[in-house]
Amino acid sequence: MALATPESDTKLYILGSRAGPSVGGAQYMTCYAVVVGDRVYVVDCGYGASEQLVRGGLKLQDIRNIFITHNHPDHNIELGTLVYFAWYAGLTRPLDIYGPPPLQTVLDGYLQAIKPDVDVWLDDIGHPPMGPVTAHELSTPQAVMDDGTVKVSCTLVKHTPIFKSLAYRIDTPGRSIAFSGDTSPVQSVVELAKGADVLVHEAIYLNPNQAPALAGRTGDARVDNQERGSAIAGDAQKLLQHVVSSHTPIEEAGRIAQEAGVKTLVIAHTVSLMPGVTDGMWIAAARKHFSGEVIFAHDLMVL
Ligand SMILES: [Zn+2]
Ligand SMILES: [Zn+2]
Repeated sequence: MALATPESDTKLYILGSRAGPSVGGAQYMTCYAVVVGDRVYVVDCGYGASEQLVRGGLKLQDIRNIFITHNHPDHNIELGTLVYFAWYAGLTRPLDIYGPPPLQTVLDGYLQAIKPDVDVWLDDIGHPPMGPVTAHELSTPQAVMDDGTVKVSCTLVKHTPIFKSLAYRIDTPGRSIAFSGDTSPVQSVVELAKGADVLVHEAIYLNPNQAPALAGRTGDARVDNQERGSAIAGDAQKLLQHVVSSHTPIEEAGRIAQEAGVKTLVIAHTVSLMPGVTDGMWIAAARKHFSGEVIFAHDLMVL
């Protein structure tokens, strides 16, 4: 068991800061790690999570828990892959995974998919068996877990239209870090993040003139033509409506951080609805209502 540690020993790793499930751009999908000594707590497992944990210098076998904010692929598509690679790297402790329903169904499917290969390695090179992997479905605001090093709590956020979506707060011996998950602006995040050191909040950068230009455009529905990566099939206008109705304008993320009284706002999982928005523009917009420190997240940042 790691010792209770001073503030400087709790680190926040931004492993993937990309929003949405298109691949091939400059960023990987959402994944964060809160690291206390040699204990690694993972929040979300979008595509690239396993790779980025290793590139960030972390050991997959040091993962203690995985917390999923919601069952959108840019937050959970690598859950099974990460469980597999962590076991392959030597994780045999029980692994408890938390998230909203249908987490159990999602995990069962992943475990079923990797079982034939796990069985092969057991025999072939003498890997120890995989420890128990348990899904804990969370449907209400609650204290999630307390392992003596970190305390984790969650609340419900608003990510229309379908998904039950969570925000998490992780309190370590020296630091408290809250994650909004994907959400439109909600008071529950203010309450969850009250007095935290860090709030990692998603954000969109609005372009009020974009809607007419996008009407009827199909084939590649992305709302920012400058964005790199694979295409997004569908209707651009519908995608725009989804983005606007289920995510948080950057100025509102700043207002939420201010109301919560956090020291630092980390802007991550960003979607710009107009081209040419710089880090500095994001930060300036966040500062409209927030007087604390603002950091625009990039993959492999350690804070
Ligand atoms: Zn997302
Ligand atoms: Zn989402």
